[in-house]
Amino acid sequence: MAQINSNYLKLPGSYLFAAVAKKVAAFREAHPEADIIRLGIGDVTRPLVPAVVEAMHRAVGEMASCETFRGYGPEQGYDFLIDAVIRAEYGSRGVGLDRDEVFVSDGSKCDVANIQEIFDSGSRVAIGDPVYPVYLDTNVMAGRTGEAGPDGRFEGVTYLAATAENGFAPALPERPVDLIYLCSPNNPTGTVLSREELAKWVAYARETGAVILFDSAYSAYIREPGLPGSIYEIPGAKEVAVEFKSFSKTAGFTGVRCAFTVVPKALKARAADGTLRSLNALWNRRQCTKFNGVSYVVQRGAEAVYSEAGLPQIRQQIDYYMENARIIREGLSGAGYTVFGGKNAPYIWWKLPDGLDSMRFSDTLLERCRVVGTPGVGFGPGGEGYFRLTAFGDRERTKEAVERIRQAELFA
Ligand code: PLP
Repeated sequence: MAQINSNYLKLPGSYLFAAVAKKVAAFREAHPEADIIRLGIGDVTRPLVPAVVEAMHRAVGEMASCETFRGYGPEQGYDFLIDAVIRAEYGSRGVGLDRDEVFVSDGSKCDVANIQEIFDSGSRVAIGDPVYPVYLDTNVMAGRTGEAGPDGRFEGVTYLAATAENGFAPALPERPVDLIYLCSPNNPTGTVLSREELAKWVAYARETGAVILFDSAYSAYIREPGLPGSIYEIPGAKEVAVEFKSFSKTAGFTGVRCAFTVVPKALKARAADGTLRSLNALWNRRQCTKFNGVSYVVQRGAEAVYSEAGLPQIRQQIDYYMENARIIREGLSGAGYTVFGGKNAPYIWWKLPDGLDSMRFSDTLLERCRVVGTPGVGFGPGGEGYFRLTAFGDRERTKEAVERIRQAELFA
């Protein structure tokens, strides 16, 4: 009889967001009159900006005639989008890249999930805690970990604790690691690693031969000057880091699907025979085998994000969300609550009083305020004792949610 990949059984049964959604659905059924405000899942709510819509319309028009119709595109993405990415995302930061170092994809989720398969199954991984759960789960599925212990920590994984005490900047690992997942601006803490912090990780990777997998899906939200929006702003990072960026939160592409991953040609890792191999060549091989490219229409839409018309429109959209973030952050801190993030990321990380369990608090918030958020424990054991609110909602609904929270005196 066929056998399953038993590593899958090491994972808890349900993805946290699904568990929260189920609870909300049950609550709604029991209280059909309840006016529930969702500040939970990190999905955008504003429509695509006009420059993107127009570009996509034009591209659909091209698909409608024999002369301009396009079938399969290059697995790595069309040059027009890659050139726009190199110019607008990297040239503007003083980083030079070649076309064949950028891989366009249909989302950062699949890229951060799939990248691990080009590394040895015995690779030792270090993962931020708390963080976007995909890094850990995909390594569990790939068999790089043991079982989860009673505290929810998987055996064999190095957890990089990001807490209020260390300013959400994890310390270097105490035991050797091969792959380091960093996420900045961070989901869920909404905090950003400084240039000095990133330089510390780059120096560590250069010294030890580790590879950094740098997820920068929220870099467009960075507002404070001087904070790095790309790991390649740190000299020497091209030899040690892969970087992931997405149009999802930058330009409302969560349903459209487009992202890109940079694998510099200078980045090498060791093969079993001791030779150094290019990770760029391996990722290219992987993508060409398992991926057939992003649709032409979508790539034209993504290109328009960087156009003269698109840039200010996108900026305005991000400003909208960041104003929501300010409203949440200032509203809660003004009411005496301790919150982090929300200045350079669309997430507010709410510190709960000691001993209050984040899943239980999620129920309290729903029952007392009719507000949905995300329990911190869903992002790793280090997220326990915190709660995530997102700035992706409607302005008036966000204000209303904050007002309800302020009135409720939740921890009194
Ligand atoms: N990386 C982080 C840190 C995220 O929070 C998300 C989505 O929430 C993603 C990647 C996935 O982005 P995409 O929509 O491009 O798959």
